[in-house]
Amino acid sequence: MTISDGRGRVYVVATPIGNLEDVGARALRVLAEVARIACEDTRHTARLCSRHGIRTPRVSLHAHNEARRCAELLALLESGESVALVSDAGTPLISDPGERLVRAALDAGFEVVPVPGPTAAVAALVASGLPTRPFAFLGFLSRKGRARREELALCAAFPGSLVLYEAPARVERTLADLHAALGPRRVAICRELTKRHEQVLRGRLGELQLGELRGEVTLVVEGAPADSGPAPDGDADARIDELLADGLSARDAARELARELGLPRRDAYARVLRRRG
Ligand code: SAM
Repeated sequence: MTISDGRGRVYVVATPIGNLEDVGARALRVLAEVARIACEDTRHTARLCSRHGIRTPRVSLHAHNEARRCAELLALLESGESVALVSDAGTPLISDPGERLVRAALDAGFEVVPVPGPTAAVAALVASGLPTRPFAFLGFLSRKGRARREELALCAAFPGSLVLYEAPARVERTLADLHAALGPRRVAICRELTKRHEQVLRGRLGELQLGELRGEVTLVVEGAPADSGPAPDGDADARIDELLADGLSARDAARELARELGLPRRDAYARVLRRRG
């Protein structure tokens, strides 16, 4: 692999989610050989770099300066230099900054090269004991309101494992909301993966007693059971189309559909949202 061959590229480099040994030889070589490392927090990435003797200049790239920083990094790419993009932990763009830089580089005709490695979502999924196919990655749910209700309704309908990120202080609230929306499904609470106090609690929504949780947490929840609603059929979809065409809101259409088809209201709501796209 040639990193500095005069063609500017963006390398999207995954870094450890806790255990600093979880970094591959290719990631280290890329970080050492590019002209600049764009970091979520330069001080955080400094620890990884100093451990491996990497002296590449670092610049910050986060939600608040991504637009301005993109312009600077594109200028560097134009001059034939390459850039590595990292976040504080795991894979950039996975609930982390970087999407704008990747998009801008692609739009300007530069190559974007993944350097894969850890991500808490996949680590949690494979340790959960729940089916890995299909799975949906939700990242962080919206904190409240309609957006959160709609996301929970989509969770209720999805037929595969659900992977969610959550801040420790909000885990109990989110587990309670998932229980209310999904019922007593199996869940794995994956805490501090790859770190000294790594812990995976497996049980059912509504049953696990958590107490105070510290550290980083990823949740994996069982998907909708196969019999959780009528199989998709043209009649139900056609009825949803009629109700929406009559000007009913998604919520009112779901109420009507649930009444007509004898469905749980949350399943009807999920179907209406899916149909509405
Ligand atoms: N880009 C990262 C990745 O690829 O996993 C995720 C960044 S997101 C801002 C941070 C969230 O990821 C945390 O709130 C937690 O939900 C999850 N997370 C990160 N590290 C973790 C770990 N070691 N164990 C469990 N969950 C973790």
